[in-house]
Amino acid sequence: SKSSLSETAIIDFRKEHLGRSLSLSYSKPLHIVRGEGAYLIDIEGKKYLDTANNVNHVGHQHPRVVAAGQQQMAVLNTNTRYLHEEIINYADALLKKLPKELSVLHFVNSGSEANELALRMARSITGRKEIMAIEVGYHGNTNAAMDVSSYKFDGKGGSGKPEHTHILPLPDPYRGRHTDADSGSKYASYAKRHIEHLKIIDEKVAGFIGESMVSCGGQIVPPKNYFKKIYQYIREEGGICIADEVQTGFGRMGKTFWAFELYDVIPDIVTMGKPAGNGHPLAVVACTQEIAEAFDTGMEFFNTFGGNPVSCAIGRTVLEIIDDEGLQQHALDVGSFLKNELIALQEEFPIIGDVRGEGLFLGFELNTTEKKPLPQHAAYLADRMKELGILMSTDGPDYNVLKIKPPMVFSKDNAKELIFRLKTVFAEDFMTTY
Ligand code: PMP
Repeated sequence: SKSSLSETAIIDFRKEHLGRSLSLSYSKPLHIVRGEGAYLIDIEGKKYLDTANNVNHVGHQHPRVVAAGQQQMAVLNTNTRYLHEEIINYADALLKKLPKELSVLHFVNSGSEANELALRMARSITGRKEIMAIEVGYHGNTNAAMDVSSYKFDGKGGSGKPEHTHILPLPDPYRGRHTDADSGSKYASYAKRHIEHLKIIDEKVAGFIGESMVSCGGQIVPPKNYFKKIYQYIREEGGICIADEVQTGFGRMGKTFWAFELYDVIPDIVTMGKPAGNGHPLAVVACTQEIAEAFDTGMEFFNTFGGNPVSCAIGRTVLEIIDDEGLQQHALDVGSFLKNELIALQEEFPIIGDVRGEGLFLGFELNTTEKKPLPQHAAYLADRMKELGILMSTDGPDYNVLKIKPPMVFSKDNAKELIFRLKTVFAEDFMTTY
């Protein structure tokens, strides 16, 4: 592809005319013009292996997804107020992937919208305002979603915790406040404390929202029993349990299709987004018949674009590809291989403090042997890896976590290449000095 605008012109225009908070990855930004499978390709034709993009789930510009969108776009795209088969076909296919208890779907266009609706459902049904959420969690850019996103309100430019939000400590069994075998119960006990505290002010909790693995928080894998206990406490109060599967869903875990299944719980509401449309804006709220019934107050929930035939055709095709290409099993195989390789690398380079995750949702921390986080080393590593043709992203409250959540077509050879390049960079002077 050719671009008629120079990189400087694009940067200058962005600075002047696009939102000031729009960020760019890397100090020398990439000019990406094409995607293919696990690769992104820049204007010079240079290919980058993408380990960061969990939106393009079945691979960048998967031909079947492209064709599904093009074909339906050429025939009809409209709202859900007419009879159309495509929404039925997609809903039916998605419901087959969910526990039978979750049998009603609402279609929206972004993870933020999905969580906004889920929170509104919880509040409307219970007639309460109080929401519990996890520290450093991120649930989206709408007002209600921001209010439960400590990643944002406790971060740069944030104005602190809103009145009706109650934050549970990050359930980090590696560097958090509880690291023993029973840390799941200990982390969950904070929910109990909030419930007791709410009693004093004569309030009750409307619900709990939590990512099934805390992604923006640094690929945190909450310990065993965590969600089980929290769900128990919340439900004893008549509250509603929301699982945010925007990052973790659609087979990425390998062992299970949804991350909440790893914890043997069934949420009342599940929100999904990012990978659902493989890059096309498509998000979903699944809930039980009871929730759907209670939310049916007479007021219509209408969403102009939600559930349109083009989005549904794309969503259905994504599900078909996951099955046809065996991508869940692939995530388990390649993910386990890569995780073991990373653990082996940790022996060689003690700067790697922790390797964690499931399937193709992995992360590793960089820190000293005293667990002091090394954010500059994480930034250096990501920059150097880019120079070597591999895109990686950093995150976590201390910016020292490398997140690995590639398109699911990421192959064993891709994993080997990643390890090979990591070895090169880990051996460099900067990485061995800290
Ligand atoms: N929930 C989680 C866990 C997310 O990571 C994100 C996006 N980073 C959202 C919700 C919001 O989704 P969107 O950007 O599509 O609105």
